[in-house]
Amino acid sequence: MMWNGVRNLIAKVFPMTITIHPAVNGGVKHTDVAGFAGGKLTCKCSSDPVVVGVTAQTAYNHVCGCSKCWKPEGALFSQVAVVSKDNVAIEQGSDKLDIVDTSAAIQRHACRDCGVHMIGRIENADHPFYGLDFIHTELSDSDGWSAPEFAAFVSSIIETGTPPEQMTPIRERLKELGLEPYDCLSPGLMDAIATHVAAQRAAH
Ligand SMILES: [Zn+2]
Ligand SMILES: [Zn+2]
Repeated sequence: MMWNGVRNLIAKVFPMTITIHPAVNGGVKHTDVAGFAGGKLTCKCSSDPVVVGVTAQTAYNHVCGCSKCWKPEGALFSQVAVVSKDNVAIEQGSDKLDIVDTSAAIQRHACRDCGVHMIGRIENADHPFYGLDFIHTELSDSDGWSAPEFAAFVSSIIETGTPPEQMTPIRERLKELGLEPYDCLSPGLMDAIATHVAAQRAAH
């Protein structure tokens, strides 16, 4: 309890000590390049890595606090974006990929050896995000990917061990970084889901 108190105090006084994600801890880098046409995502294996080729710019890049997305060591959030699955191809090491949870809406394909999630694919054609793959652009050496825009599923980090008392400084830090914290997805994406549900109901 006392340790949590000390940690909360440190987080309050030094918000930069909160490790949201390595890509944004020092400030969100707005290095989006007009006409950026993607790059290669490589897993963390030092030999025979899995390589995924992406041939388009990503959209809706954000940091995510859910317990399912892959997070680098020590990060409270993952960084994840979407891109059309037509622009995604596994170029190398597909035999090393396993689906983390086959019952999940997003089928996250992880490298068996290093644990990194290379693509999250939606196979259900009725899903609002069908046709999109979820990817982690930090796995690419290329600059020019779309920058993170918001923070999703913020309260969920409590499920994976963050003490609830730390949520206020964490939310404040996210706002300071320009990543508006939401406890589900951003309003734009929640509206897209609801629009899809309404259209499905109308069709039945
Ligand atoms: Zn690997
Ligand atoms: Zn997530």
